[in-house]
Amino acid sequence: MSLEERGERESALAKAATIAAACRRCQIGYERKNNVYGEGNPCADVMVVGEGPGETEDQLGRPFVGRAGQLLDKMLASIDLAREDVYICNTVKCRPTSPGPRGPKNRAPELAEMVNCRPYLDEQIDIIRPRIILALGAPAAKSFLGNTFQITKQRGNWYKGPHGIDLMVSFHPAYVLRQTGGELDAVKRLVWNDLKAVREKLKVPPPKPEEQPLRQAELF
Ligand code: URA
Repeated sequence: MSLEERGERESALAKAATIAAACRRCQIGYERKNNVYGEGNPCADVMVVGEGPGETEDQLGRPFVGRAGQLLDKMLASIDLAREDVYICNTVKCRPTSPGPRGPKNRAPELAEMVNCRPYLDEQIDIIRPRIILALGAPAAKSFLGNTFQITKQRGNWYKGPHGIDLMVSFHPAYVLRQTGGELDAVKRLVWNDLKAVREKLKVPPPKPEEQPLRQAELF
């Protein structure tokens, strides 16, 4: 990809991020500290979509930078991808919270919040046009594949996402972190299988853009 195209994508994403930062379509738009738009390679082959920012992400305005983010970095490294190689974002850009005894606590995004935020995600996909979308966790999977999607039964398969982009669904790293003992080993093995499928797909060369016949009128 040319430097010019990369620059164009960077500025399109920066412009879209500024618009998203002013969004107040949901109540969480008033409650969050930072809008967590997304970050990474604007020319990425792989786009990682999580559910929504947690406390650390809200504080820093960056996706997947807490404990789950550290595990995500390791998961990516296991298939030779650095965080900088991919683009990372979420189904919602504001931290969803519910009241807790020690202040607001993280919760999964509601359907209406994902619907409100969807145009921002779609725009990111349109700009980056990744070869693969890796949806992590049930909310991300449901946002692409419908509300009846059952992550425990249906993860680990290839689906078609927006624009026919190959979509892999796996467990969310925060879910992995909540497992212990034999369950932890079993879940890690499943995630590893999903990641290996992503690595294999990346080895297949992307289809060449359709060759257009040369037309004399455009040549001289
Ligand atoms: N969990 C998510 O789904 N996204 C983040 O950005 C952080 C934690």
